[in-house]
Amino acid sequence: MEVISKATELQERIKGWKQKGLTVGFVPTMGYLHEGHLSLVRGARKSNDKTAVSIFVNPKQFGPAEDYNVYPRDFNRDAALLEKEGVDLIFYPGVEEMYPAGYKTYVEVEDLENKLCGRSRPGHFRGVCTVVLKLFNLIQPDEAYFGWKDAQQVIILKKMVEDLNLPVKIRPMPLIREEDGLALSSRNIYLNQQERQAALVLYRSLLLAEKMIKNGEREAARIREQMVNLISAEPLARIDYVEIVDLQTLEPLATIEGDALVAVAVYFGRTRLIDNLRFISGVVEK
Ligand code: AMP
Repeated sequence: MEVISKATELQERIKGWKQKGLTVGFVPTMGYLHEGHLSLVRGARKSNDKTAVSIFVNPKQFGPAEDYNVYPRDFNRDAALLEKEGVDLIFYPGVEEMYPAGYKTYVEVEDLENKLCGRSRPGHFRGVCTVVLKLFNLIQPDEAYFGWKDAQQVIILKKMVEDLNLPVKIRPMPLIREEDGLALSSRNIYLNQQERQAALVLYRSLLLAEKMIKNGEREAARIREQMVNLISAEPLARIDYVEIVDLQTLEPLATIEGDALVAVAVYFGRTRLIDNLRFISGVVEK
């Protein structure tokens, strides 16, 4: 496994792979890896000749009052995990390498970026799209792997790829949870014991939605109300949003008909956690 920090060196290595006709699977991450990340790596490895992972805490996707400076980082641990998974290359650039002084170019996916998480995190998806497009340009992956954990991110990046005719396939992968249902997230480390326990209400609210949908409920307002009631009963939880939206447009739904996304964002103390389930072709995925 090779660790590369310079863009030019990365491009040389990728050129070599491409000249040999090798396919490249790519997994972008912010590091502090867990089983969720590793599931993407395994997916990428299974379908590609070479697997590249980037580790970059992207300052442009954090708001000024957000956790950029304290975001957990442990490169040595991450590298050991990736080595064990048989990853070929880690791209580990510094901020200056990605955004040299005078950097000016950004990517925006209109409308979609202002919904759900975009409302409480203005500029977040502009930062995500910008870094992902840069990484796609550098790595030229055949496939890029993303987790359904960040459902809005998957939908926005698919749109970016479609709109900009990028020659890469977005491969969304299942959301990985702890045994008790909490979605794996690098940010779970911020939770104290009480908050960690309280955070289970996220999954419980999704199970409630699942049960209602399976029992035939299609009125979004009724499902939403029950979810809000359940989450609000947890004293340590402060709701950012609970929404039921169209899986493509992210527009709120009155009635669940086609594919839908049930998405929640809730603060536990200062930590904001997200979770979701998808209702796709009549089947609940969570
Ligand atoms: P991050 O390091 O948070 O930027 O995440 C990198 C990638 O891992 C993104 O595509 C995430 O959606 C994905 N990911 C994070 N947590 C999970 C999880 N619990 N299950 C599946 N994928 C995840």
